[in-house]
Amino acid sequence: MINLILFGPPGSGKGTQAARLTEKYDLLHISTGDLFRYEMGNNTPLGQEAKSYIEKGELVPDSVTIGMLRNKVEANPDVAGYIFDGFPRTVAQAEALDVLLGERKEEVTALLSLEVDDEEIVKRILERGKTSGRPDDNDESIIRNRIEVYNSETAPVFDYYDKKGKSQKIDGIGSIEEIFDRLCTAIDKEI
Ligand code: AMP
Repeated sequence: MINLILFGPPGSGKGTQAARLTEKYDLLHISTGDLFRYEMGNNTPLGQEAKSYIEKGELVPDSVTIGMLRNKVEANPDVAGYIFDGFPRTVAQAEALDVLLGERKEEVTALLSLEVDDEEIVKRILERGKTSGRPDDNDESIIRNRIEVYNSETAPVFDYYDKKGKSQKIDGIGSIEEIFDRLCTAIDKEI
């Protein structure tokens, strides 16, 4: 199996690239952000709980997020691999992912981190907010909080996999096609 973590700050292009990579490598794309938005759209108890965090740009608690991710993986066992997008966002989530994959004698193949500077991120998310309909994309102070949360809680996940020799930085500035080519070059070296 190929189990990729597409990493990087909000607005770094993870969703766009994951959709393309999924097609090329025949993987299942799992975006925890999309899963939460689906639950919120259906006003489920999980969605209601997640909403209070998401609208502030905070992380949804690990126990909720890990449980939801586990359900999604367990519901889709017969795939060639997964692209995790927006997960793991804390070291505890990374440890839980390793346990989950380990139960099937699998492991994370690589973590690819899209590198984009903060000002570019704010610009991109505000632009996306014009059409995404996401309240958390439309308020600059929430966007800046999401970046802060990324730096304090999520960036350590890069180091966690770096210690295992699995993390790679990918230049996230350029055209969608250029960035896709960089990601494919990195992936092709791993498989
Ligand atoms: P995203 O679409 O990946 O930008 O996620 C949108 C929001 O959903 C984030 O700002 C968090 O509030 C929440 N979220 C998504 N994934 C996670 C995760 N792995 N852990 C905690 N919260 C998450």
